[in-house]
Amino acid sequence: MNLKRREFVKQLAAGAAVSAIAGCAETSRTPAAGRVVVIGAGYAGATAAKYVRMWAPDIDVTLVERDSEFISCPLSNLVLGGSKKISELTVGYGGLAKYGVKVVRDDAVAVDPAKREVRLASGATLGYDRLIVAPGVDMQYDTLPGLASANAKSKVLHAWKAGPQTVALRRQLEAMRDGGVYALHIPKAPYRCPPGPYERACQVAHYFKTAKPKSKVLILDANEDVVSKKGLFMAAWNGPYKGIVEYRPNSELEDVDVATLTAKLQFGGVKADVLNVVPPQRAGQIALTTGLITANNRWCGVNWQTMESVKVPGVHVLGDATLSAQLMPKSGHMANQHAKVCAVAVIAMIKNQPLNPQPMMVNTCYSFIDDRNVVHVASVHTYDATEKTMLPVKGAGGLSDKANELEGTYALSWAQNIWADMLA
Ligand SMILES: Cc1cc2nc3c(=O)[nH]c(=O)nc-3n(C[C@H](O)[C@H](O)[C@H](O)COP(=O)(O)OP(=O)(O)OC[C@H]3O[C@@H](n4cnc5c(N)ncnc54)[C@H](O)[C@@H]3O)c2cc1C
Repeated sequence: MNLKRREFVKQLAAGAAVSAIAGCAETSRTPAAGRVVVIGAGYAGATAAKYVRMWAPDIDVTLVERDSEFISCPLSNLVLGGSKKISELTVGYGGLAKYGVKVVRDDAVAVDPAKREVRLASGATLGYDRLIVAPGVDMQYDTLPGLASANAKSKVLHAWKAGPQTVALRRQLEAMRDGGVYALHIPKAPYRCPPGPYERACQVAHYFKTAKPKSKVLILDANEDVVSKKGLFMAAWNGPYKGIVEYRPNSELEDVDVATLTAKLQFGGVKADVLNVVPPQRAGQIALTTGLITANNRWCGVNWQTMESVKVPGVHVLGDATLSAQLMPKSGHMANQHAKVCAVAVIAMIKNQPLNPQPMMVNTCYSFIDDRNVVHVASVHTYDATEKTMLPVKGAGGLSDKANELEGTYALSWAQNIWADMLA
């Protein structure tokens, strides 16, 4: 009996040693603990893919992204202002290979939650145990018939996804006569990046101040007031940009006449030399076709402890596509935080481990007033198990006193650090 037991223990030890060696040399030979597919390699999806692999190298992770490179929306307004080139905001996906994330360049076109499969435009299918959907936003043009055609969209740009549109809008600004009007339409909140449009107005004003001093920036805001960092932006428009920037609240857009570059508002039209319309937005198309949208035909409700959809089990939704919790901005920083909470939860769910009872998230959004001076807003959010949502932590976070150069250096470091956190 004793001999048998000793033999058994020896066999067990040998087996364990073999699998440990096999695990070191070639992890793909040991079956993965689970399969995770991530759709969208932006601020949320790339971070989630990397952190699942970093924290659980035995989980197989495939990241599906339609674009060849990541181009950051944060700092993209500086391309319009002229102090950055789009190449400075572009990062490749190559760094994810060292974590064992398989990056597939394709378009996810359908999800079958019953079979737990994602279908790609190439025709391939990917099976999953847990799916993470992080597609960002799509623009909603249905209320703006004048912008329905591709030709109209190429003349009146949104530039609310960084890339070719950002570069094209900069060219429109460069080509504009001195004395012209740049009009920027802001949709009703919630939209991607609450302070983003106001930062854009400052960046264009900064460019005009030096290159085209007779020109004007006209902000047509569908909201009744400045949505974010109001005092700080007003200080810029009444200070260095006095006479250049004009702010008009309650300016909801009814349609656009592309031929005359006229924004049609309730009380008449506003003609511009460069018209930049940021349309209302909703969760990216794949969220819609997967049945993840739960609020106003636009946003996806999630369980904030796990980021799992409240509607489709096994599918987690991150980033701008989510129905934001109270005072939670649609920002890159927040998308990065969603991703980390989700990575922990997905690993726990695959491995039948307990969930983190109280996830926390933080956010900082910097806005460039000119090419150097910056302001910030910061907030902290914690999971409330009674309310089953994330709530802002009272007294945490805050706002800059005034625009300053030190925060300019912080903002540039923030960008480098968050890009490294997700992609390097
Ligand atoms: C002008 C501007 C300035 C901003 N400034 C800041 C800032 O200073 N700080 C900040 O924190 N945030 C800022 N933001 C907001 C920030 O960009 C977004 O909140 C952030 O990008 C959201 O991350 P996401 O992962 O949800 O979406 P995204 O970063 O847009 O990523 C979504 C990805 O999914 C891919 N995708 C979508 N559908 C599919 C599919 N079916 N198949 C394959 N791939 C797909 C897309 O190609 C994209 O790469 C700014 C935004 C703008 C427009």
